[in-house]
Amino acid sequence: MSGGDRGLGRRRQTASQNAATIRRVQRRRRLDIDEVVARLRSAAPGWNVPVVTLIAMQSRDPFQVLISCILSLRTRDETTGAASRRLFQLATAPQQMLQLSAANIERAIYPVGFYRTKAASILEICRALLDRFAGKVPDDLDALLTLNGVGRKTANLVLTKGFGKPGICVDTHVHRISNRWGYVSTRDPAATEMALRRKLPPAYWLEYNDLLVAFGQTICMPISPWCSRCPVAELCPRLGVTRSR
Ligand code: SF4
Repeated sequence: MSGGDRGLGRRRQTASQNAATIRRVQRRRRLDIDEVVARLRSAAPGWNVPVVTLIAMQSRDPFQVLISCILSLRTRDETTGAASRRLFQLATAPQQMLQLSAANIERAIYPVGFYRTKAASILEICRALLDRFAGKVPDDLDALLTLNGVGRKTANLVLTKGFGKPGICVDTHVHRISNRWGYVSTRDPAATEMALRRKLPPAYWLEYNDLLVAFGQTICMPISPWCSRCPVAELCPRLGVTRSR
């Protein structure tokens, strides 16, 4: 090996050791969540608004928030938005929805993921709302969780977006990013929700999901995040990130 090659090799090694040291120091440092949220708020106007938030802002109707949440599970935002619009042209209340057959609903919401199961779920939810909640969407987490097909993510989103009540909706973006920051150290979204409920200042509960979903779709993607364009890069220890741009 020539002297030049040895020098280049040493420089590369030193650079990677420096990067590793910076990450170790950042990992030990507590994440400044106030600064992180402030930076994400400033950057957010350039990102797409998550579809359920958009529907909540336009309709201000917990029923439409609930149904669009169901449609959004395992489905891209563009598909959810178009399917929601088609369905809400036919029905925007439980009683109206029950006038539709499962096949009508399937046709309206296709091609959302699991459209047959979701059509059946929507009808079952509407029956339950009429039978047990006087036709209204309940504004209580435990009551929402009794509805067919409604898990913690949907229930929290209905509370926050449908009623403006406190809740923390943890989806795949919120779970992944909160762990990359080292703000929580959890294995699954349910554990992340509990950790965030203990740790995240209540002032951020309502917007945390919106900010992190838009951020996760635009910058901090699951594979190869855009760390070079990231507004919180100096604050982030990038835990678990093996490849970035
Ligand atoms: S994009 Fe990179 S630097 Fe930014 S939050 Fe995600 S992992 Fe951290």
